[in-house]
Amino acid sequence: TMTRAWNFNAGPSALPLPVLEKAQKELVNFRESGMSVMELSHRSALYEGVHNEAIELLKELLQIPDGYQVLFLQGGASLQFSMIPMNFLQEGMRAGYVLTGSWSEKALKEATILKQETYVAASTKEESYRRIPGLDELKLEQGSAYLHITSNNTIYGSEWAEYPDTGEIPLIADMSSDILSRPVDVSKFGMIYAGAQKNLGPSGVTVVILRSDLIEKARTDIPTMLRYDIHNKNNSLYNTPPTFGIYMLGLVLKWVQQLGGVQAVEARNQEKAQLIYNAIDESNGFYTGHVSDKMSRSLMNITFRLPSEALEKEFLSQAKAQGFVGLNGHRSVGGCRASAYNAVPVEACQALRDFMIEFQRAHG
Ligand code: PMP
Repeated sequence: TMTRAWNFNAGPSALPLPVLEKAQKELVNFRESGMSVMELSHRSALYEGVHNEAIELLKELLQIPDGYQVLFLQGGASLQFSMIPMNFLQEGMRAGYVLTGSWSEKALKEATILKQETYVAASTKEESYRRIPGLDELKLEQGSAYLHITSNNTIYGSEWAEYPDTGEIPLIADMSSDILSRPVDVSKFGMIYAGAQKNLGPSGVTVVILRSDLIEKARTDIPTMLRYDIHNKNNSLYNTPPTFGIYMLGLVLKWVQQLGGVQAVEARNQEKAQLIYNAIDESNGFYTGHVSDKMSRSLMNITFRLPSEALEKEFLSQAKAQGFVGLNGHRSVGGCRASAYNAVPVEACQALRDFMIEFQRAHG
């Protein structure tokens, strides 16, 4: 049998092997139903159990307080870029956006397409997004509809170490690439959202965690499928949800629980990222991290360059020959990127560290 690749893909990305094996085992006959999860009616009691179990597990793992709802939507994190301003940016209000990378820019762009009033509360674009702005750099306008941040910048490889306290203004975070990688105080947020395809499961499901009072205040004069209140009233079963993806999400959550929960996962993630950051920091400048400020370094996406594009090409081609996948940087920025999401094993990061040291020895 073929061994598993050292998968450093940025998303869709590695899934835990025990999860894949469990899904394989249950594929053709799920819990004695005589069919796969994919073939169940989304209105059946069996499927509803899968659905509600996933919601409860997420609430438990992230310690989501009462007064928050968990929704499973479609359209990726990208559709949330549109749904957020459509639901929450009422006439005469303005919403703040912190720009820390391409995904924050895209979130802002969707609000401006709708001709809604926005402002940039802080940005590190002028510095090629090499750091997260300090909390003292944020210019929050009183009465803002919300402040939007990207908690982890998948392309540039930066991550918020500490979240801003926005007081009465709801804080909304795109956590697509770091949800469930470390504990988070959900009560600080009005809304958290994430496409599943990095830390949660396969693509096709988008998790939304939303404070109930925001749902109550959301606009209702928008298309039905884009209304949070409709999805909430129907427990994300207004229309056919991505049932198999939600089932896989539930298996991933159970796997996280078995690892010891989010705190244990964070410790593992720190160990993994440190292996690779050490290879960068101890390379005497052969490898240079894109993120200049160590406090802003991402635990999930480790971005770095080599002394020349020719060496980067050679690095990527040798890495590929040795079974590493997904080490190329995003097509918009080039360079190299190792995405070490929750399901990437420590051994994969050790193997990458060893490869980086060996490559430097041969070419440094
Ligand atoms: N936000 C972030 C931080 C992302 O990394 C991505 C995808 N890589 C997106 C949004 C877009 O997600 P989707 O493809 O699910 O729309």
